[in-house]
Amino acid sequence: MTAPAPRPGIMDIRPYVGGESAIEGVSRTIKLSSNEGALGPSPKAMEAMKAMAGEIHRYPDGGAESLRMAIGARYGLDPARIVCGAGSDELLGILCRAYSGPGDEVLYSAHGFLMYAIAAKACGATPVTAPEVDLTANVDNLLKAVTPKTKIVFLANPNNPTGTYIPASEVARLRAGLPPHILLVIDAAYAEFVSRNDYTEGNELVDAGDNTIVCRTFSKMFALGGLRLGWAYGPENIIGVLNRVRNPFNVGSAALAAGLAAFEDKDYAELCKRHNDYWLPWLSEQVTKLGLTVVPSVGNFILVRFPAGEGKDATAADKFLRSKGVIVRAMGAYGLGDSLRITIGTGEENQIVVDTLREFVKG
Ligand SMILES: *Cc1c(COP(=O)(O)O)cnc(C)c1O
Repeated sequence: MTAPAPRPGIMDIRPYVGGESAIEGVSRTIKLSSNEGALGPSPKAMEAMKAMAGEIHRYPDGGAESLRMAIGARYGLDPARIVCGAGSDELLGILCRAYSGPGDEVLYSAHGFLMYAIAAKACGATPVTAPEVDLTANVDNLLKAVTPKTKIVFLANPNNPTGTYIPASEVARLRAGLPPHILLVIDAAYAEFVSRNDYTEGNELVDAGDNTIVCRTFSKMFALGGLRLGWAYGPENIIGVLNRVRNPFNVGSAALAAGLAAFEDKDYAELCKRHNDYWLPWLSEQVTKLGLTVVPSVGNFILVRFPAGEGKDATAADKFLRSKGVIVRAMGAYGLGDSLRITIGTGEENQIVVDTLREFVKG
């Protein structure tokens, strides 16, 4: 007897493991493992979701019209060239399926977001990585790794889990150095957190051609990870492909309602941005003072590197933090077994992280 076999590549996928949210035997936990917004969702988003609860027997607006209009108006983008997805993960997966397959290569930098490998393998393509320099994507190395089989380049900018970014001029150099038939996917999941003069999310590269797309999410700054909502801005040809391949009702009505309300609650987003602007440098500095290495981050999380040595390494730190109810993200799956990724939390949570790490380091 032979059971149905999936396509080659599928069984090579190491299933994505999300950040844990509970520890057995610990009643109060602090979850800083998934880069979710520290302050939770906008109260207006919660209200909007409650207000539409009586309508959930209706199919959602499959074209996500209101949300696309609002996004377009805010950023000066043509709403017809925006598509919404069930999280940006869905859009990343569709792009892989539509533009690559068996025999093709999907390229990204060494510590790029884990979903790229999963999406590539799921459609039979081969994931290929290019070395980083100082845990930062390196344009020369990416260009060197391009082969005639390369179909897609994914660039998370800023990247998760490293928190590093490359300036707009470097992204432009990457685009210019790639053959025009290669799709460049700029994954700007943390764009809203970045305040650097030399950074852009990449919309100008979308407008400059027909081969670059920018993916965005409501899961990080807008803190709606549980609802699954993302969007992409791209050229007409690629948006046309996404609209053909996506499910007609890929985004639920609750996500659309809450997403629109969160997007329009500018004051709350500003509050969340200010929170991160204060606590990101604070946490980075405090953890550095403990003698640990913090990779410079422009996102809402930091990557902390631990020295080798039994009892003092990242695994021991993770265990210690857990014993105190603090859940962060171990990085073994990214090949960064010496590191832990810690999301910026509330002020109190950040203080507890530092106190607990101090206890670990000194103890
Ligand atoms: C969180 C994250 C996403 C996925 O976000 P969803 O919209 O929740 O699917 C995509 N890319 C990067 C780099 C992320 O960190």
